[in-house]
Amino acid sequence: MHIDDDTLALLALGEDVLDDGARAHLAGCPTCAAAAADLARVTALARSGPAPDELVAPDPRVWRRVHAELGLAEVPVDLAGAGPDAAAGAAGAAGAAGAAGAAGAAGAPPADVVPLPRSRRARTWLGAAAACLALVAGVAGGVWWERREAEPPETVVATTDLEALPGWTGARGVARLEEAPDGRRQVVVTLDAPAPAGTFREVWLLTPDVSGLVSLGVLEGSEGRFDVPAGLNLATYPVVDVSEEPMDGNPAHSGDSVVRGTLGA
Ligand SMILES: [Zn+2]
Repeated sequence: MHIDDDTLALLALGEDVLDDGARAHLAGCPTCAAAAADLARVTALARSGPAPDELVAPDPRVWRRVHAELGLAEVPVDLAGAGPDAAAGAAGAAGAAGAAGAAGAAGAPPADVVPLPRSRRARTWLGAAAACLALVAGVAGGVWWERREAEPPETVVATTDLEALPGWTGARGVARLEEAPDGRRQVVVTLDAPAPAGTFREVWLLTPDVSGLVSLGVLEGSEGRFDVPAGLNLATYPVVDVSEEPMDGNPAHSGDSVVRGTLGA
């Protein structure tokens, strides 16, 4: 009795798997010796350095087998005309798929066709198609999301640096005026300035001579977004001002401005 394949494979990998009887058989049996030599060559090849990392085009027979496995009746045109081997493969593919070759032209399939494998393959094919669709949908969704993030609907109409007023040396900020497609306007303020305890910041729009002012709201933290009242003429109130306000219940401007800048200046 010959040595079984598993044992020969282990032997080729360098395992000490042979007992005395098997060793004696191997020494006297050309069949087992040849099998052992083949496996040894395969092992040596596999260990003879890194695998090539370039991609190699598959043999056309691979595609025919993929076609057969997926239950596709037709063979791709470029494979169908590839020679006698291709013709044989095409027939084999169609047979394996449970349909006559070129089923659409040749009419009804043979009577001994068992439909179950075909439907299973069809389901496999549908599953693969569904996976492809899901992938495409996912990529498209990702692209849409990226664009949505990259192109906000608001347009930046004007920006200005906010410069420190006396007593607030080192404070600075930026204000920008944004306009949505529907005409809604917002002022976005960022401020880098120390914040004393027990006070808060308020954002205002002022006339250039500071004779008129409109409160936009309280600035929490270092950035805030404020609606500009509809109908307010920003040519009249172009100055963005951030004030330091005590918690005194007085809604008027404290007179203690931290930073100021003029939109469109
Ligand atoms: Zn043998």
